[in-house]
Formats: sequence, C-alpha cells, structure tokens
Amino acid sequence: MKQRPAFPAKLDTAVRARTGAQGATVAPSASMARVPAVPQPQGLGMDSTAVRMNMVQKLRGQGITDAAVLAAMGAIERHRFVDSGLVNQAYEDTSLPIGLGQTISKPGVVSRMAELMRNGASGKIGRVLEIGTGCGYQAAVLSLLATEVYSIERLRGLHDKARDNLRHLRLPNVHLLFGDGMEGYAKGAPYAAIIAAAGGEAVPQAWVEQLAVGGRLVAPVVTGTGKGSAQALLVLDKTPQGVRQTLLEPVHFVPLKSGVA
Ligand code: SAH
Repeated sequence: MKQRPAFPAKLDTAVRARTGAQGATVAPSASMARVPAVPQPQGLGMDSTAVRMNMVQKLRGQGITDAAVLAAMGAIERHRFVDSGLVNQAYEDTSLPIGLGQTISKPGVVSRMAELMRNGASGKIGRVLEIGTGCGYQAAVLSLLATEVYSIERLRGLHDKARDNLRHLRLPNVHLLFGDGMEGYAKGAPYAAIIAAAGGEAVPQAWVEQLAVGGRLVAPVVTGTGKGSAQALLVLDKTPQGVRQTLLEPVHFVPLKSGVA
C-alpha cells in the first residue's frame, strides 16, 4: 500500500499560476520534490490533484518552463482520457493505447510541443489547428493555451471517443472535426499555430498555407527512409520573409495517414 502525501498541507503551498489558465495550479518545486510516494489514481472522480502535481514537477525537471503549459498540464485530468484498466499509468510519462491502434502522447511530449507552439507568448495564443484528436487529451490541454482549438481526427471511432471524453469538461473553444487532417481545415485559417500528433514524410502544403504569417507549426516528421524509420520534431515558422524550419530531437509518433476510416 502506497502512502498518500500529506494533504492538504503540501498542496496549501501550491501557487496560483500567473497565466490565468482556469483553476490551474502549479506546485512550487521544493515542497513537491519531498512528496514521498505517488498515490495511484483509483478511477474517475478521485482526487488526482497530488499525483498530477507530481507529474507537473517531473515536467519541470525535464526542462518545461512555460508557466501556462505547466498550469494546463496540472489542470487537465489525463486519467479521464484513458481506459479504466490504464488509469494507474495515466500520470506516468508514457504513451498509452487509446484503441484502433493509436496512442495518447506522453505528457512530456504534449508539454514540449505546447511550449514550442506558444513560443514564449504571454497570454493565450489565437486559433490552433490540431491534427490527430485521438482521445482528445491534447485538445483539452490546448484549450487552456489558445483562444480556439480546431482538432481533426480521421478515425470515426476516436472522433466519437474524444467527444465523449471532452463532454464533461464543457470547453466551448474546442471544435472537434472528423476528416483528413492532411488537408488541414481551411475554414478556421489562418492559424496562430498548427500542431500534429502524427508523423508524415513531409509537411502537407495545406498546413503551411493555413498557417498565419508569424505562426508556428510543430509536427513530427520522418527523417530516415524505410519502414519504421526515425522521426524528429519539426518547428516551422512562417515569417514575412518565408518559411524557416528547425529540426529538433527524435520523437516517436503514430503515422500520419490520408483519408478517413
Ligand atoms: N493528440 C492525441 C494523440 C492521438 S495519436 C491525444 O491526445 O490523444 C494521433 C492521432 O492522429 C491518431 O488518432 C490518428 O488516427 C490521427 N491521424 C493520423 N493521420 C491523420 C490525419 N491525416 N488526419 C487526422 N488525424 C490523423
């Protein structure tokens, strides 16, 4: 039996995030670092705050510094987006199956991409397009960081699952779309940011076209050749002078596929 951290004594020291993300708190480093053991989520409706703050603390340790991103990661209950049998692993830095051969991204990757996407912005950024809704977790995180989130999924089963998962959160700025994200979503363009949760050989031209000048695209791209080849995170900035691309660390995402199913 694992011991619960002292509650609410430890959490009393939590600080309100300065960014204004709704209801989100970020624990200061010193107090959370001493929490002896992480309580395991027991199912929906549990008080998962402490275990989530522990995850946020680890994200800080991995170098995530954007207060708004940390607040959003602390606010969205990841355990509500995974199947009941996986709830115990919901706050580990691991991707987990969400059905139809797809996965929810690791918290470390979600926060890294969100931080890159925000690029040091002070408040919320404008409209964001997410390719690959999956279970809807990242869309929920993004909803606290952007004014509007358009999220496209090509698998009907996951599009429906995301809608179910997000219902209780009542996020009026999240727009779930069923379709082929390779074409982007022109009706919401131009986007302040585009973020892809699936990796393709190249960035579709539609994404670059639908990105606002001054906007940023963050996506995994295939860097090698052949089956199962390597991917890296790409940051593409659309500037008045043209497109600037930067290839960052290796990542591992499900493949970007065309068409719907
Ligand atoms: N952001 C998701 C991660 C889901 S995994 C989450 O938080 O759970 C990536 C998703 O991208 C998968 O659900 C996959 O079906 C979807 N995908 C792959 N190619 C796509 C495309 N062309 N358009 C839309 N979605 C796509």
